[in-house]
Amino acid sequence: MNVADSELMAQVLGEDFDLTVRAEDADLYLINTCAIRRKSEEKVKSLLGSLKPLKQAHPQLILAVGGCVAQQEGERLLAFAPHLNLVFGTKGIYRLPELVDRAARGERVVDVALERDLPDSPHRSWPPGTVQTMVTIMRGCDNFCSFCVVPYVRGRETSREPGAIVDEVAAFVAAGGLEVTLLGQNVNSYGRGLPEPITFPQLLQRLNGLPGLNRLRFATSHPRDLSPELINAFGELHALCEHLHLPVQSGANRILARMNRGYTREHYREKVASLKGACPGIALSTDLIVGFPGETEADFIQTLDLMREAGFDQAFSFKYSPRPQTRAATFPDQVPEDVKAERLARLQALQDELTQKAHARLVGREQEVLVEGRSKRSPQELCGRLRTNQIVNFIGPRELVGDLARVAITEAHPHSLKGRWVEGSATA
Ligand code: SAH
Ligand code: SF4
Repeated sequence: MNVADSELMAQVLGEDFDLTVRAEDADLYLINTCAIRRKSEEKVKSLLGSLKPLKQAHPQLILAVGGCVAQQEGERLLAFAPHLNLVFGTKGIYRLPELVDRAARGERVVDVALERDLPDSPHRSWPPGTVQTMVTIMRGCDNFCSFCVVPYVRGRETSREPGAIVDEVAAFVAAGGLEVTLLGQNVNSYGRGLPEPITFPQLLQRLNGLPGLNRLRFATSHPRDLSPELINAFGELHALCEHLHLPVQSGANRILARMNRGYTREHYREKVASLKGACPGIALSTDLIVGFPGETEADFIQTLDLMREAGFDQAFSFKYSPRPQTRAATFPDQVPEDVKAERLARLQALQDELTQKAHARLVGREQEVLVEGRSKRSPQELCGRLRTNQIVNFIGPRELVGDLARVAITEAHPHSLKGRWVEGSATA
């Protein structure tokens, strides 16, 4: 979501500013920030500190901080960094031209009002050759999971009008786009509060009908609201990729209740079984938190058991980090840091095993790859993703970049696959 917001900021400022690679060339240095864990907040502060010499050498430089840390800290950031010119919150993106203008005239600006509704996105354009994009379909969150800062820094949940979303995706496909990822904190509640009633599966259906849209993905889906209609969509909509990110957070009912997640491990297991029934071969990824306040060794073992049973293809795992304003930060039974670290290491070792197994099952199969570019580790190879989201490296002609190709999977590695290009296969 932050990457999508950064793109939007660049676009909103596009009339007055071009992007530059070297910081020394910049007239405006804009830091977009994440507040989900304390570590990301600390990074912002240390980056700000390290920019002092740049600002001293270029006093005209406008230094700005936006996004969730800006929303959370507001005025305090100006006090922390005397060389900072502008602080703007999560609803300030469209006002950037005006805010930057004020900063350029010497004002130290803070704009962190959260009540204001964002207008809809302006007409979007993409650089030539762009084949993947993200489209924000909703903003904010009303779920108030007890560990999470998002509802406080991104405000109440709002859905974009379906017509605007369909137009944006249609424009992208017309410009040669192949893959779209829809974004929201809980896409399953998409449509709530809109004048024209629509559900998320209905939105998917409308997008699936756009000729030329090859791959449709979305993030994130809350397990509590995962409806039978959405589960069935995986077996029915040709563009919808066979991959679902379904954050479970914990496998222990006691912890899930204290997290205010609104489902049990049994509900979660049932939904996983239905998904595998509706779409055999679907890949599942998840988010997990270790060391949530009150988590015992027995609770943690339940998480490991659930991971094995669900057979996650991939997991993003985090040590619980207390966040300002959240309920869990006030819980008395905080877990010591060394216990969190030890659990995280065990959990990640198990996930590595599960990922390796999932990768091994793909060896010997021929799969469709959307070729994204050269491989980072071995630049003589190309790299892309399967519909099920695994990364594949293979040898092939450069011209395949930005195209769909068929690749026979030959090797399973811990974080990627190796493949052989099925010669001649490409759509363009
Ligand atoms: N809306 C998404 C999650 C967005 S935040 C959902 O509900 O699934 C992304 C992930 O960050 C969460 O799934 C959670 O695993 C992690 N996270 C959020 N707050 C956290 C905290 N206080 N400490 C550690 N991890 C956290
Ligand atoms: Fe945070 Fe929960 Fe909302 Fe996800 S659903 S953004 S974890 S409050």
